[in-house]
Order: sequence, then C-alpha cells, then structure tokens
Amino acid sequence: LFITFEGNDGSGKTTISKNIYEKLKKMGYPVIYTREPGGIDIAEQIRNVILNPKNTAMDARCEALLYAASRRQHLVEKVLPALDKGQIVLCDRFLDSSLVYQGIARGIGVQEVYDINAFAIEGHLPDATIFLSVDLEVGLSRVSSRGNKDRLDQEGIKFHKKVAQGYDMIKERYKERMHIIDANQTVEEVEASTLKEVLEIMNAHGQG
Ligand code: C5P
Ligand code: MG
Repeated sequence: LFITFEGNDGSGKTTISKNIYEKLKKMGYPVIYTREPGGIDIAEQIRNVILNPKNTAMDARCEALLYAASRRQHLVEKVLPALDKGQIVLCDRFLDSSLVYQGIARGIGVQEVYDINAFAIEGHLPDATIFLSVDLEVGLSRVSSRGNKDRLDQEGIKFHKKVAQGYDMIKERYKERMHIIDANQTVEEVEASTLKEVLEIMNAHGQG
C-alpha cells in the first residue's frame, strides 16, 4: 500500500508522516517512512544539488529533471521492493509535488512535467494521498520558524500562493485518491485526524 503526503511548505508533512509511521509501527503494522527528494543515498545526493542555496542558476527544467531522476531511483531502490514485500509505504511528497511546484508554480506546464515523470515512474502511482491543507500564513510562519533554510525557503509569498493554487488543481484532478486533512489545527489534532484516515485507507485496501 503506497500512501503519499502532500501539501504546502509548513503544512506538517514531515512531522505528521513520521508520527503516523511511529504509531503504526507500535501497532505492529509493517510500515516504512521515506521522503522525496531523498530517502536513499543517490536521491539524497540529488536533493543536495537541488536545494543547495548556492545553486541560484538552477534552471526550472533542469530542476524538474533532477526531481524526476531522484524519484526514479528512490522508487526502484526503495518503494517498489517494500511494496513487493507487502509493506505500507508512507512517502513524504511524490509526483504531485512536481506537478505543482515545477509544473504550475515554476510555470513549466503540468503536462510537460507529467510526461518526464511518466518516464520515471512507469505507472506506479500512489494508492492514496493525504493532503495536509494549511492556510498560507500558517504554513509560512511555520517555515520561517525553522532553523535550516534551503534554496526554496527563500521564495516569497507569491510563489507559495501559486503552490497553493496548483495543489487545488491537482487535488481536483486526482480527487479519487485524495484525503484532505485540516492542517491548521495543532500537531496532536492533525495527527489524530490523519491516523484515523490512514487506518480507513488501510481497511479499504485490505491491510487493516
Ligand atoms: O518537503 P521538503 O521540505 O523536503 O522540500 C524541500 C524543498 O523543496 C521545499 O522548499 C519545497 O518547497 C521544495 N520542493 C520543490 N519542488 C518539489 C518538491 C519540493 O520546489 N517537487
Ligand atoms: Mg522544507
């Protein structure tokens, strides 16, 4: 069972997906947590290239190709073997992030970005996606209170607004697999709603 976590910067994807992973593990489920870009050595190396604040010359299409390349390696090296073993894979970001950030916010086009990703993922789409829905101001205030800043954290509110609008479009396009959670609540509340939703998804897929 392949479950991805999506949402604007500061929506809590990493915190919540890690907490859900810990909870499910304690409950005895065969679950792994992983993230994009990254999750395995080669993909973490690509992540460092993408997010290095020194790389201000990074071209948008180059960036999109690097995301797709890291996704490919992460998928074949980690996600697919785990799914083959019957594990539940919780993945912090996946394809939707590229469609939104590179396709829409960077203006490359959703179809263009979809096409290079289709090459990379060969039809392996998530079974379900937890969408953490956060107001722009709430998300940005969480980002600005973080210590480490990557290249994208230097983007202004205009960029993040485009990301939010992009997610609205992608949420609509893939509504059958989208599970929307109000992520403006406290971490404890978001975690409780997400856990409930994930357990329902697991039941619906015979993994409960
Ligand atoms: O989610 P995470 O913090 O790991 O993402 C790292 C950075 O990469 C964030 O600033 C995010 O906005 C950016 N990003 C992006 N395009 C993607 C995925 C992430 O610009 N497809
Ligand atoms: Mg970040």
